[in-house]
Amino acid sequence: MSDKAEQAVSKSSKKDQAKDKKPAVEAQDKKSKGSKNSESEVQELFGAQQIDWNGILTKLQSDKKVRSIIANNQDYLNKIIDCNDAAAKTTINAILDEIYELISDEATMAKIFTKRFGVDVSAGAVQSDTKTMDIIGLKGSYKVLQKLPESHVQRLKALNGRNETYKSSSGTTWNAEKIAVDYDKNNMDLVESGAYTDKDDTMVGMNMFETTLAHEVGHVADTMSFQFSRDPEFLKISDWHEYIYDRTGVAQQLVNDMMTNMTDPLLGPFSDDELAAAKTAAASIIKRQRPDSSQDIIVEAFKNAGLGGDGNQMLLDYKAGQMVNTTLFQHIQNAFGNKFCWMNECFDYLPTRQFHQGYLGRSWWSYKNEARTQVKKNSRYQFRDPGEDYAELYATYFMGTPEKRKEIEPQRLAWFEKTVLPQVGGAPQQQAAQKPQQQQAAQKKK
Ligand SMILES: [Zn+2]
Repeated sequence: MSDKAEQAVSKSSKKDQAKDKKPAVEAQDKKSKGSKNSESEVQELFGAQQIDWNGILTKLQSDKKVRSIIANNQDYLNKIIDCNDAAAKTTINAILDEIYELISDEATMAKIFTKRFGVDVSAGAVQSDTKTMDIIGLKGSYKVLQKLPESHVQRLKALNGRNETYKSSSGTTWNAEKIAVDYDKNNMDLVESGAYTDKDDTMVGMNMFETTLAHEVGHVADTMSFQFSRDPEFLKISDWHEYIYDRTGVAQQLVNDMMTNMTDPLLGPFSDDELAAAKTAAASIIKRQRPDSSQDIIVEAFKNAGLGGDGNQMLLDYKAGQMVNTTLFQHIQNAFGNKFCWMNECFDYLPTRQFHQGYLGRSWWSYKNEARTQVKKNSRYQFRDPGEDYAELYATYFMGTPEKRKEIEPQRLAWFEKTVLPQVGGAPQQQAAQKPQQQQAAQKKK
């Protein structure tokens, strides 16, 4: 499971596009004069024995009035939804892209969504308590999936909403192939600005719903198929190093590496034997995932090393208590996956590398400080683990404008364009990405 939640502020009102409106309306009027009988032409097209989908698409594109005629006619919509001709799939998709913004009821929108992307959006498709998104959420998601590589969207099995008046946006991926999101249906314009980004981060100002959903789809495709986040070249950028803590010797290696990079890890009046036992205890806490039992585990390690304090339990407890307060043990306690310590890195006592567990029960990770302090980052969240590093990059790239993409740290951007894009048929067309926004603006005016 991966989870992301961010604070939000409302974006200031969008640029007034009214000045662009008038010529557009005039042009449209001219066109519809030439095709007075759009209604009957559409009727004819849909009434044919063998429906000519390309003809319908051409009609849609040349006569914008046809968009609302189809979007408001349940019979036409049903014919589109029921069409199972594989050869017509691309055309059907293009037709849906033209009309989805104008759909007015949720159930139809849900069907269209599934038709377009093959993603189950029915209630409970993700978890028993998740539901079909409301129509605003479905349209918002449509717009996001449209911009993402088809081969990635194909990995997504189900998409649901949870809290729809959440004053932020948050996504969770289940079983690596199903996504549930919290969002605010009353304010889809919320932008990244909060707890998981610093003011200079690339993701600041980006639409939060879009980046959240794109981030999760990035995970789905990565985990289910591509494994981009494990590419050695990608890992090299931040010098990510993995510690699979439950494998033999790995927790001890992690403790040794932490100590090597830590200022005064075990400062105190400790004998060499006590220090050796402490290191064993530190590895044991990590391996057994028991940060709350640090003191008991240190006592146990002392006893195992024959440092029983001659049976003086009070003395043992006192020593262990001193040990718990050292930088090493304090850090280990605070670096477990549920403590989110990557939020506040880099720590002064780790002047060269950071060490933490990304998610409780999963690997520990280390990265070099320069990756965070010397170059522009996408967000704080990217330092949770390489999967998040990748998902944040993915969301920034695919949801970002060309200008925003240029802000991405050069090494990451170069790697992404060299490694990820060739596998998905190049960059998405900016024209396609812009279209839904224009349609939405037109719809608002109406
Ligand atoms: Zn994530």
